[in-house]
Formats: sequence, structure tokens, C-alpha cells
Amino acid sequence: MQNSATQHKILIVDDIPVNVALLAAILSKDHNVLSATSGEMALDMAAREQPDLILLDIMMPGMDGHEVCRRLKSSETTKNIPVIFVTAKSSAEDEAYGFDLGAVDYITKPFHIPVVKARVRNHLSLKVKTDLLEEIAHIDGLTNIPNRRRFDETLENEWGRALRSKNPLSLIITDIDYFKGFNDYYGHAGGDQCLYSVAMALSSLMHRSSDMVARYGGEEFVAILPETDLNGAATLAEYWRSVIEAMQIPHAKSGISDYVTVSVGYASTIPSKDQLPYVLLGVADEMLYQAKDSGRNRICGKQMESHLPSSS
Ligand code: GH3
Ligand code: MG
Ligand code: MG
Repeated sequence: MQNSATQHKILIVDDIPVNVALLAAILSKDHNVLSATSGEMALDMAAREQPDLILLDIMMPGMDGHEVCRRLKSSETTKNIPVIFVTAKSSAEDEAYGFDLGAVDYITKPFHIPVVKARVRNHLSLKVKTDLLEEIAHIDGLTNIPNRRRFDETLENEWGRALRSKNPLSLIITDIDYFKGFNDYYGHAGGDQCLYSVAMALSSLMHRSSDMVARYGGEEFVAILPETDLNGAATLAEYWRSVIEAMQIPHAKSGISDYVTVSVGYASTIPSKDQLPYVLLGVADEMLYQAKDSGRNRICGKQMESHLPSSS
């Protein structure tokens, strides 16, 4: 039996309690089993509990299993949860239809216990690997913080959220000063170590769970700050700058200091429909270059005009 900390969560969905009990009896020894007795309840639990696998009955009153699957697959929060249909329907056409909806497998009633266990085990193992790949694809290999791909996706999502809530959204972008000289002098390994230290320091300054810092590329780091206005972004930008300076990482080739420093640009807006998130990033980038141009080891920021519709 697995330790409960490593047990996977399986959501069983069936309108007939005895069917749920039967599957639960087979699976609860090795897994953490949850159950739902209607489609609506299943959607709610899937979003809330994030199970690793869903065993879904097709014929249910109200919302049937096909519709539940369709909705699970069209929602950002549940689309990656594998779904196995559990059904007495077993024609090839039925199965093909289920696969078209995004299911990964079928279990037919009446159950053959070893087959149920084997299918569940296989799909859980596949899910673990998929999750790992997904994570690796979004993490920067050198610093272990989120990479540009994760940043781009999060920015899209947060932009959408801010658009709906009409809250401000801010971005910070920072670039290490005279880093080419640092690399040339201390070697590539020294440069990598510096990037790692800066990444760790910047991530440790993020206190709100919705804030996110990522390595944007080379020696550039970015942060997304939901529900944060220009003043809030300025505070964090200055915090970034001063913390890196205070780390006193020796930099023999800097044109402005004995230590590694960063220049920081930031920008804030209340998103509107006729703008794209990348425009805000462009403004923050403009501010970064202004900080570079005006001497480095400093911050520059700007409020981006939002075109909010009038309240009428
Ligand atoms: P500025 O103050 O204007 O930012 O000057 P800079 O020298 O920092 O700017 P530039 O963009 O010319 O140099 C960036 C350097 O960063 C180039 C490269 O040597 C280094 N770099 C980029 N990515 C990595 C990396 O992954 N590891 C290491 N060690 N160095 C990197
Ligand atoms: Mg640089
Ligand atoms: Mg650069």
C-alpha cells in the first residue's frame, strides 16, 4: 500500500451509489478516492480537488458523462485531468465518441477487477510523467525558476483576470548591468552562478502567491504583479535593485560599482480590451532601457494609459 502522502487522488463519478462503492472498494486500498453522484458535482469537485484521474459514468440523469467530459476538457483548470469512461455502453462507435471527447480510456461494466486496477495504474503512471514533463517545460534549467514560456502563459491569464476584475496589473523587467564583462572576467561558470544567485534572491522577495518571477532570457528577469498599481510596482522594483546591490557580488568589470547591480523597468495599467499584454511588457522594457541610459543601477517606471469604457 502506498503512503497517503504519495497516494493519487481518483474521482469516481456515478449517479448510482452502489457503483461508486464497488469501484471505491477496488481502488481505495491504494488510492485516495473521492466520489460525486452527479455531473454538476463532478465538475465542481474536479476543479476544487484537482484529482489525478476521473472515472466517469456516461449515463446519468441531468448532465451525462459525455457532457461532463466535454466541459472538463474545455476548462483551463481541469483539461489536463485524464478521464476514463466507465460504462455498460460498449459499441465501437460509443468508444470512439468518448475518445473524441478527450477520454483516455474505457472500462466496461461489469468490472473485471484486475483490469480496472491495471488501467488505473497505467493512466496514473502516465499522468505523473506528463505532469513532470509539463513542469520541466516551464522551468528554466539554470535557475530552477519559471521560464519565459510560463511567464507568457501566466501573463495571458493574469491579463484576462485583470480585464474582468478591472484591477491594475504591473510588470517588472530587470537586466544585470555590464554582465558581458562579468562573464568575460569570471568565466561562463561564474556568470551562471551569478544568474542563479540573482534568481534566488528575486524569487525570495515575492511574497504574494499570485506574484510570479521568471527568467525571461539571458540575464533578464521579469515579474508579474496582479492587483498591483504603479506605486506597488515601484516599491518592489526598488527592493529588487537594492537587494541585488546589497548582496555585494564582486564585479571587477562593472562601469558603475564594485558589485553586481541591476537596472529595473516597470509599468502598470488597468487592462482594456483593445490592448494586448505585450504592449505593457513593451512599456516596461522601454523603462528598463531608460534606466540603462540614465546611468544603470536604477529603476524607471511608467503608467500605461488604459482605455476603459465610460461607466454609462
Ligand atoms: P548592460 O549593462 O547594457 O545590460 O550590458 P550587458 O553587458 O549586461 O549586456 P549584454 O546584453 O551586451 O550582455 C549580456 C551577456 O549576458 C551576454 C552573455 O555573455 C551573458 N549571458 C546571457 N545568458 C547567459 C547564461 O545563460 N549564462 C551566462 N554565464 N551568461 C549569459
Ligand atoms: Mg545586461
Ligand atoms: Mg541583456
